[in-house]
Amino acid sequence: MTARPLTSPPLSVQALHPRPHDRLIVTIDGPAGTGKSTVARDLARRLGVDFLDTGAMYRAATALALDARADLDDAFAIADLVRAADLTFRWQDDPPTLLARGRSIMHRLRDPDVASAVSPVSALAPVREVLVERQRRIGEVHARLVSEGRDQGSVVFFDADVKVYLDAHIKVRAARRADQLRAAGRPADPIAVEREVRERDERDSTRAVGPLVCPHDAHRLDTSDLSQPQVVDRLAEIVHARVGGRAPA
Ligand code: C5P
Repeated sequence: MTARPLTSPPLSVQALHPRPHDRLIVTIDGPAGTGKSTVARDLARRLGVDFLDTGAMYRAATALALDARADLDDAFAIADLVRAADLTFRWQDDPPTLLARGRSIMHRLRDPDVASAVSPVSALAPVREVLVERQRRIGEVHARLVSEGRDQGSVVFFDADVKVYLDAHIKVRAARRADQLRAAGRPADPIAVEREVRERDERDSTRAVGPLVCPHDAHRLDTSDLSQPQVVDRLAEIVHARVGGRAPA
C-alpha cells in the first residue's frame, strides 16, 4: 500500500488543478436511513449540478469482490479488482449509471449479499484509497457536484464549498429502511432492520479509515420530523446562504 494519507488530496491535484471560480461542491454525509441519497439527488437537480452517489461505488466494490469469490479479508486483492474494474459513471443518465468494465453494475447494488458485506469491505484501507482517489478525480471534472456518502466532507472534499451532515432518530431511520425494503419487494422485520442499521452505524463510525463523522464545519440537520421535500428546501437554503450567486436560485 502507498503511504499517502487519505486526509488530504495529493499535492499534484492541488497544484495542477487550481480551484475553478464557478466550482460548487456540496457534500452530504450521514448514517443509513436519513434519506441522504434521495435528497442529494433532488438537491443536485434543483441546483442543476451533477450527483455523485459514493455508496454505490462501495456497493459496486463489494459486488465485484463477491462475484470474483475473493477472500473478503484480502484488502489488496479487492482493491486490485476495483482498480481493474475501472468504475465510471454514465453521466447522461439520471441518476448516473455506475459502470464496471464498461457495463452497468446497478442491478447488483441492492442485493442482500452486497448489503451485508458492504460495511466490512468499506472498512478496508486499500479499497478506500482507490475509491477516494476516483471520487476526487470526478470532482475535478465535475466541479459542480452534490456528493453523498460517509466521508465526503471529512476526507474526499474536505475543502467543499458547503458541507451538510444529515441525521435522524434510529427508529425513524430503521422505519425508512424497512419501507425501502418493502417497496423493493423484500421482507423487512422491523427489529431485524433496526439491528442491521445499528450495526452498520457502529461499523461505519468506528473504522480506522474514513469513519462516519460530522465535519466540524458542516451544517447538521436532523431529518426525523421533516419530509423529503422539506429537507431539500432546507438544503437549498443552506447552499444559497453559503455561496449565493454560485448556485442558481
Ligand atoms: O449510502 P449507502 O447505504 O449506499 O452506503 C453503503 C455502505 O457503503 C455504507 O454503509 C458504508 O459502509 C459504505 N460507504 C462508505 N463511504 C462512503 C459511502 C458509503 O464507507 N463514502
